[in-house]
Amino acid sequence: MSYQVLARKWRPRNFAELVGQSHVVRPLVNALDHARMHHAFLFTGTRGVGKTTIARILAKSLNCETGVTSTPCGICSACKEVDEGRFVDLIEVDAASRTKVDDTRELLDNVQYAPTRGRYKVYLIDEVHMLSGHSFNALLKTLEEPPPHVKFLLATTDPQKLPVTVLSRCLQFNLKRLSLDEIAPQMQKILDAEGITHDAASIKLLARAADGSMRDGLSLLDQAIAYGGGKVAEAEVRAMLGSIDQDFINRLLQSLAAGDAGALLQAVADATEYGLDYEMLLKELLLSLHRIALAQADPALAGEEGENVLAHARALSPQDVQLYYQIGLLGQRDLPFAPDPRSGLEMTLLRMVAFRPVEAGEVRASIKPVATPTKQSPVESRGTVAPAAVAPVSAPPVTAPAASPPVSAPVVRSASIASTKWSETVAQLGLAGLTRELANNTTLESHADGAMTLILDESRAQLLNKDREAELKQALEKYYGAAIRLTVRLGRPAEETPAKQKDRLQEERQQAAVQAITDDPNVRALQEKLNARINPASIRSKV
Ligand SMILES: [Zn+2]
Repeated sequence: MSYQVLARKWRPRNFAELVGQSHVVRPLVNALDHARMHHAFLFTGTRGVGKTTIARILAKSLNCETGVTSTPCGICSACKEVDEGRFVDLIEVDAASRTKVDDTRELLDNVQYAPTRGRYKVYLIDEVHMLSGHSFNALLKTLEEPPPHVKFLLATTDPQKLPVTVLSRCLQFNLKRLSLDEIAPQMQKILDAEGITHDAASIKLLARAADGSMRDGLSLLDQAIAYGGGKVAEAEVRAMLGSIDQDFINRLLQSLAAGDAGALLQAVADATEYGLDYEMLLKELLLSLHRIALAQADPALAGEEGENVLAHARALSPQDVQLYYQIGLLGQRDLPFAPDPRSGLEMTLLRMVAFRPVEAGEVRASIKPVATPTKQSPVESRGTVAPAAVAPVSAPPVTAPAASPPVSAPVVRSASIASTKWSETVAQLGLAGLTRELANNTTLESHADGAMTLILDESRAQLLNKDREAELKQALEKYYGAAIRLTVRLGRPAEETPAKQKDRLQEERQQAAVQAITDDPNVRALQEKLNARINPASIRSKV
């Protein structure tokens, strides 16, 4: 059995099966039930929202052998032929490929003849705005004096291109783009009926990607089923769409609200693992920030993802949203100049956290001379981005001054080769808990002829007990593959212990991160243009 695409297999056969467009269906059903059918309808709306489907259902309603009805039987030969696309009295014309006046004349000449099979001849002219001027005149003449056995169903994505003379002779219906809540349940229903394994997250992703069109949505669903080898799973769908899940953007926004640089960097690491596009990620983040700013100006503007957007609108201050947007825009502009896209994205996100303004009250409590009130406040100058969205600000949000001393270039003390080697050995012993702590606070004094002496930092003497010493001995014997007589002495290690080395490296990385932020030209630009200050406590190095 050949595979039939879902959009065709699941094309609605009657008005009850049609998803959405109830504002169009209701008047059509009423007209059919009361036998007061207008002779010309114009359906406007983007592709894949149901224009042709509605026209076919209408053709069945008018020609069903049970009589004119809003609920065609679906089993008589007229209904079946319409469903199979071979009903002679349903004449489908794609005006986009038939613009010559002769063609249309030929078409309209036949209007005069009675229907071959049914009660009515139904003309469906798609993309009717593509007809030439002469064709329009020919059509118009027929619309002025239509034979009683003819119904015209005109469809267009661009009604503004239609002459008013045509518009005035048609009943016009504007088909809406379908919402997520209309597309997703239909996908769910189809997958259930087809017995295809799926998850809610995949459906959400696909329904969003459908962008208001059920046909596009079902076509994507076909692709997802093929891509996933007969099942629909989130990871594959995400890879297929190359799109960024809103959940991922939510995660970034929450990390920004919490000022958590570590979480942001982890998110970027995960994005790398998922194979997400960094540029797209930044773009989606900017779009979300825009929606949040709108919602902060007026909650009614929260849009489709209303609840989600409002939650972020509450969690973030309008100033922060403006700042993140501005930094994100600069980051997007500079992304091609970054050494690589990932580091460009990382720096942009870190910058957002580094520049986060602190609460106005906090500023007043901790500093006086930093903010000069005569200067334009940072928020006002940022207002040029989206003035409507900037809420009134009571005090200039100046970042808290650095509590720490000025940052100097990282001091690199060369650790001795012996201590580095011992650190590496300890790291490979596979120890855990306090026994690992014990090992990390020792240095190797001597190791010869099966005798090993370690010096335990005397300030950590409490770590030493018989059990841990035995466990350490066992691990060392396993590592060296030989019996060892272990002695652990308390003392002041001359070399750097692994624990001290780790602290030092962490400190050096931190200083390097602060330095990188301080040296960044974009950061400097923000400092100069927006009167911003770096909050060093907010910078965390990647471990
Ligand atoms: Zn029928």
